[in-house]
Amino acid sequence: MFRKILIANRGEIALRIICACKELGVRSVAVFSEADRNALHVRFADEAVCIGPPRAADSYLNIPSVISAAEITNVDAVHPGYGFLAENANFAEVCDASHLTFIGPTAEVIRMMGEKDRARREMAKLGLPIVPGTPGPVAEEEDALAAAQTVGFPLLIKAVAGGGGRGMRVVRKAEELLPAFKAARHEAGQSFGTANVYMERLIERPRHIEFQVLGDRHGRVLHLGERECSIQRRHQKLIEESPSPAVDESTRNELGAKVVKALETINYVGAGTVEFLLDESGKFYFIEMNTRIQVEHPVTEMVTDIDLVKAQIRLAAGEKLADVVPRIEMRGHSIECRINAEDPVTFAPSAGHLTAFYVPGGKGVRVDTAMHSDASIPPYYDSLVAKLIVHGADRTHALVRMRRALEMFIVEGVKTTIPLHRAILADADFQAGRIHTGFLDRHLPVMGK
Ligand code: ADP
Ligand code: ADP
Ligand code: MG
Repeated sequence: MFRKILIANRGEIALRIICACKELGVRSVAVFSEADRNALHVRFADEAVCIGPPRAADSYLNIPSVISAAEITNVDAVHPGYGFLAENANFAEVCDASHLTFIGPTAEVIRMMGEKDRARREMAKLGLPIVPGTPGPVAEEEDALAAAQTVGFPLLIKAVAGGGGRGMRVVRKAEELLPAFKAARHEAGQSFGTANVYMERLIERPRHIEFQVLGDRHGRVLHLGERECSIQRRHQKLIEESPSPAVDESTRNELGAKVVKALETINYVGAGTVEFLLDESGKFYFIEMNTRIQVEHPVTEMVTDIDLVKAQIRLAAGEKLADVVPRIEMRGHSIECRINAEDPVTFAPSAGHLTAFYVPGGKGVRVDTAMHSDASIPPYYDSLVAKLIVHGADRTHALVRMRRALEMFIVEGVKTTIPLHRAILADADFQAGRIHTGFLDRHLPVMGK
C-alpha cells in the first residue's frame, strides 16, 4: 500500500478522497489555490501545499505546480478526483515519468477514451452497440452535408474532446446544418483546444444509463450495475439513481457482461464509467466512457456497500479485484440530488458567502460536501455545493426519504437548485419512473413558478 497520496483536486471530492485515505491508514496531501486557503480539504489533509492563484489554469490545472507539490512532500501516488486533470493523458504520463503512481488507467487508455470518435470506433470493435454516426471527425464544410445525410436527421454535432455537457448542437434539418457546423467547430476550438467535431443520430427522449466498472492490474474487470442519470439540464446530470427503474436483471447481466469483456480486452485499470443511451424501443447505444471516479459514484456505493474510492486506491497499489471486491450484492435503492449554487430556473451560477448551512441526517441519508456555515463559494470553480444521497429498501422508500431530506436542507446566502429538486421529487412522472433526458425541458416552465 502507498504511504502518502497527493490529492490533485478541491471541494467535496478532495474530502471524499481524504476519508478513503484515513480509513486505509495512508497519509494525504492537499493542494490548494489562494482562493481555497480556508477550505476544509486543507484542514483535514495531513499536509497542504499552495499551488498558485485562484484561476484553475494557474493552480489546479497547472501540472508543473502539482508535480512540484508531490515532489516536495515526497508522496508515492496522485489521486486526480474528477474534472481538472482527471482525464488528462499528458498529466498521467508526467506522473509516470516522475515515479508517481497515477490513480487511474494508463495514459494510453485515457487518450483512447478522451477522443470520443475514437472511443466509439474502439467500443464498436469490442462488440458494444454505438449510436449511428460518422466514423470519425468531419473537418470540411463541403463534406458536412453528405456526412449528415448518411447519418440522418435529426442529428447532434458533438465535439470530439467535449465534456461536462458542453460542445453539442442539435440539427433537425439540412438547412440548419452549415451554420451549426461552423459554430460547433468554432466553439469546440475555443473550449476544448481542438475544433474537431463528429455527427451522431439524435436519439429522441432517451434515458441515460451508465455502468460502473473496476479493473485491476492483473487483467480482471467487473461491473457494479448501472446508474440512471436521465434528469439533466443542459446535458448535465442533476439527479442520479441506482438501480435504474428501466433495467431488469437479465438486461443488466447481458449488457454488463459485454462491457466487462470489452474492458478486459483493453486491460482497463481502476474505476470507470461506460455511458449509454436507452431509446424508447429498448435499444442501448454506447455514447462515451469516463476514465475516472464520477460525481454520482455514491449511489453505487449505497446499493453495493463497496467504497469505490478505497477500491481505486487499492487497485492502483496492485491488489487483486478478488480481494478488493470479494462479492457483489445489490441491496435497495439509492438516489442522489446535486445541490448546485445557481438559480434554479435560469441555472446562472450564484457564487458568494453562505449565511446559513444545515444538512439533513438520520437513517439512510448521506451528504457529501465541503461547505459549512461560514464558507464561501468562489466564482472560479464549478457550482457544486453538496450531494444529497439517500438509500431505502426500494425506490418508493428512497423517494420518501429524499423528500423529507430536501425539506430539512438549509442553504442561505446563495441561490441553489434545492427548490427545483423538491419540485421534481413531487412530480408524478418522476415518481413513476417515467423519465428521459428531456424531462426538465417539459417540466421546467411549470416548476419555475
Ligand atoms: P459525471 O460524468 O461524473 O457526472 P460531469 O460530466 O458532471 O461528470 O463532470 C464532472 C466534472 O468534470 C464537473 O466538474 C465538470 O465541470 C468537469 N468536466 C468534465 N469534463 C470536462 C471538460 N471537458 N471540460 C471542463 N470540465 C469538465
Ligand atoms: P459529456 O462528455 O458532455 O458527458 P456525453 O456524450 O456523455 O457528453 O453526452 C451527455 C448527454 O448529452 C447525454 O447524457 C444525453 O443527454 C445527451 N446526448 C449525447 N449524445 C446524444 C445523442 N446521440 N442523442 C441524444 N442525446 C444525446
Ligand atoms: Mg457523459
